[in-house]
Amino acid sequence: MPKIEILTEAVASQIAAGEVVERPASVVKELLENAIDAGATQITIRIEQAGRRLIELSDDGVGISPEQIQVAVSRHATSKLRTTEDLFHIATLGFRGEALSSIGSVSRMKITSRQPEEAASARVVVEGGAVRGVEFTGAPVGTVVSVEDLFYNVPARLKFLKRDLTERQQIDTLVTRYALAYPHIRFKLFHDGEATLQTSGNGDRREIFAAIYGVDVARQMLEISFTDENFMLEGFTSPVGLTRSNRKEITFFINGRWVQDTSLSAALLKGYHTLLMVGRYPLAVIFIRMDPADVDVNVHPAKTEVRFRQQDEVFGRVQRAIRRGLLAYSPPPQLTNLGWQSQLPPLPPQFFSRQIDPAWDMAVEAQESMAGVEPVVEGEAQKPQPRLDGFPAGDLPLLRLVGQVGSAYLVAEGPDGLYLIDQHAAHERVLFEKWQRQRGQPVPAQALLTPQVVQLPPQSSRMMNEQLQALEKVGFQIEPFGPNLFRVLAIPAIFSGADPAAVVMVAVEDFEEDETPLQTELEARLAARICKRAAVKAGSVLSTEEQKTLLQELEACKSPRTCPHGRPTMIHLSIDLLEKQFGRRGSR
Ligand code: ADP
Ligand code: MG
Repeated sequence: MPKIEILTEAVASQIAAGEVVERPASVVKELLENAIDAGATQITIRIEQAGRRLIELSDDGVGISPEQIQVAVSRHATSKLRTTEDLFHIATLGFRGEALSSIGSVSRMKITSRQPEEAASARVVVEGGAVRGVEFTGAPVGTVVSVEDLFYNVPARLKFLKRDLTERQQIDTLVTRYALAYPHIRFKLFHDGEATLQTSGNGDRREIFAAIYGVDVARQMLEISFTDENFMLEGFTSPVGLTRSNRKEITFFINGRWVQDTSLSAALLKGYHTLLMVGRYPLAVIFIRMDPADVDVNVHPAKTEVRFRQQDEVFGRVQRAIRRGLLAYSPPPQLTNLGWQSQLPPLPPQFFSRQIDPAWDMAVEAQESMAGVEPVVEGEAQKPQPRLDGFPAGDLPLLRLVGQVGSAYLVAEGPDGLYLIDQHAAHERVLFEKWQRQRGQPVPAQALLTPQVVQLPPQSSRMMNEQLQALEKVGFQIEPFGPNLFRVLAIPAIFSGADPAAVVMVAVEDFEEDETPLQTELEARLAARICKRAAVKAGSVLSTEEQKTLLQELEACKSPRTCPHGRPTMIHLSIDLLEKQFGRRGSR
């Protein structure tokens, strides 16, 4: 057995650094938190080569005195915590006294700082954990931390870094979240000399939303505010029509700290209840203030996980806050408000026993609440129809249009009863099949009369730059137009008439990090997604002509009974069922 020895300070802090400093974004996070704790009103971040070359953060906060600057970079050195008792009342973002020493042990770090009352500023230089010296210099009030050659002395760590694009995205996401959380701080973020985010620090969160997601998204976001005893929740969440395909845009801050907690986002999603379509997620940035004694942030060195003293209570409050907020903006109309009620005698109560918002899928809802009424797809699944090549698989009988209900559904009559058609799902199907028919041929593009400029969040705009060519193959023509701005010259022809910005957003929003989709896969995925967006929405009044066209086009589809995502486009109420429901025949 080798001898037991105490690790040297350098080795110990390198091991500890592994937990705090995983990648460039973690360095940015720690430095940001220090600047915020120091009361900064302006924070400027310069990144070079995705943070591998340089991460530099300057702030105008309280600074560090020349006598203390060397202590600041030692392990377990902090001005924010004195006793273990303090751990239960942490009001600062930092408290572990680990960040600077950890970062210093895996990079070449320089800290230059001046306090307002001091005439001189001091600089400490650390290289791979060794303090190279402290010198006096002239510098403005505040602190500049520059971290060069991250992981130069731990090549194993370097290998774990993702490609530059991904590392940059992580930084962008982090900085944009903090900019939203601290609207009174002026943030500036530069990548290789190019400004990718700037906020004014005037306290207006909606303005920051606009800087990140574009004006259109910013305008739509719903402001939420909720108080229950010592629990305060505020922030923004998206209306049901504005969603993403993943949860990445759901962000929580607790007492000013960004936390990544899946159960909090689950609570938020519960607040949306059935309002969202399957597989769609809102954008949200939620800030919670609560008694620090009720939330433990000291779970992991990176401080992104939390534990609540009363977990269920917190989740319940989040859910209620969101639900109330959504209802306040758009009370779900009752089905009794729809056109039918006035002309026909009331339907049996179990028919529509719930409040239903036409903005989401009635077919799914109805499936649950109408006993005995089978959506057409289900019946189809029970007795599979033979599919011959070139023979329409889901052939519909010829339908006669009766009219539109609730600006969301078409009513049609067939030889075998009544058909309720979800106009959105049906149109989605129609568009998708048009797209499929064009596949393999060059995709016709529709040039826009006036090119439209769209703004993308920094992280998406990098993706966009990489995908410009792929998008061109599917009918887009888009060119860079300044930082985070793109000029849309053409969109795929089948979407002419749709809002070009919306179509483009759909095309980029879901490119996952580290993903280079194959051309064909990209096309199909894009198509399904774009069809969903381009399809006529529930809530749109259609002219009789439009209703007829939609019905005819649906009849011509190969699989008219489901949308490209597999949900039913229609519900069939057979004559048989109607007779039973009206007590003319059978069981009742
Ligand atoms: P912690 O933030 O957990 O206290 P750090 O290692 O991040 O630990 O920082 C050590 C100490 O250095 C802090 O407690 C703080 O006093 C000081 N410090 C770090 N960054 C700054 C800054 N930007 N401005 C002023 N003081 C700072
Ligand atoms: Mg810190």
